[in-house]
Amino acid sequence: MEKQTSKRATIVKHTGSHYLVSDLPNWELTQCTVRGKLRLKGVKTTNPIAVGDIVDYDLQDDGTGIITRIHPRTNYIIRKSTNLSRQAHIIAANIDLAFIVATLDFPQTPLAFIDRFLVTCEAYRVPVKIILNKSDLNTNISENVRDFIELYNSAGYSTIEISCITGHNIDLLRDECDGKVTLFSGISGVGKSTLINTLDNTLHLRTKEISEYHLQGKHTTTYYEIHPLHSGGFVIDTPGIRGFGLLEIEPEELSHYFPEMLKVLDKCRFAPCTHTHEPGCAVKEAVDNGVIATDRYVSYLGMLEEEGKYR
Ligand code: GDP
Ligand code: ZN
Repeated sequence: MEKQTSKRATIVKHTGSHYLVSDLPNWELTQCTVRGKLRLKGVKTTNPIAVGDIVDYDLQDDGTGIITRIHPRTNYIIRKSTNLSRQAHIIAANIDLAFIVATLDFPQTPLAFIDRFLVTCEAYRVPVKIILNKSDLNTNISENVRDFIELYNSAGYSTIEISCITGHNIDLLRDECDGKVTLFSGISGVGKSTLINTLDNTLHLRTKEISEYHLQGKHTTTYYEIHPLHSGGFVIDTPGIRGFGLLEIEPEELSHYFPEMLKVLDKCRFAPCTHTHEPGCAVKEAVDNGVIATDRYVSYLGMLEEEGKYR
């Protein structure tokens, strides 16, 4: 038998039949396959290997590789499978920074969507920032912009207001992405693809018309991929995501993933406290005093209720 060389690289794309890997930050693609069953212990997911996973592979004589090992993940982002089987699909692993791209208008991003994504990031230890896109449309509603930024600032998150049309803060965003693997998420139409194409105009990501058509196809599967940015760093677009899963979170645990609630919840009279009906609840008191935003508390209650349905 010939001696094989074992190498280490990051999964940058999954096409269904094979994976493409590169030893980041270098961009040199090797096609790999998996032989037999290979999955991380204790993780029930529809995909055993995700974009961003670090793997070992044996290089074959024909230049392709065979994946032999997945390294433990520092973090990951999942979404629920469309069926109610409690199975999860891993969107990406080992993310340095996640951006939730939101817009106040055209379309209006529901706060519940943003809060759910933020909770997912907290729960899986993914650093997260908010991007408020289409600032060119916000000139007449600057008060709403201020309220939005203040809402999330008081919860502990920073918001970057940008415009792909005017280029507002695009350089700043390039700097943020340099040297990292970043993930962009947000509802359809907020401008994720436009933004990634703006960050690097050699990337030609599909914009809305096509991706919406894509969503309607019953048997199409979305494959996430890592794109290299000219200015440094790597980005992952996540088209077509309707909701993020909180599959492994217990009701008593949920408030731990709201940073502003985490700060006060040790003062609740009861532990654990769900911050709903319990007397002497420090979280409810903070909401009454305006220290915790009502919008965020409402999102919390919504998630609590929705998660309860699956139990
Ligand atoms: P995605 O579904 O999040 O990938 O959104 P797209 O990138 O496909 O963009 C949806 C629509 O928003 C397109 O018509 C874009 O031209 C538009 N768009 C993207 N960024 C901006 C922006 O900064 N300002 C304005 N006014 N429109 C934008
Ligand atoms: Zn409480």
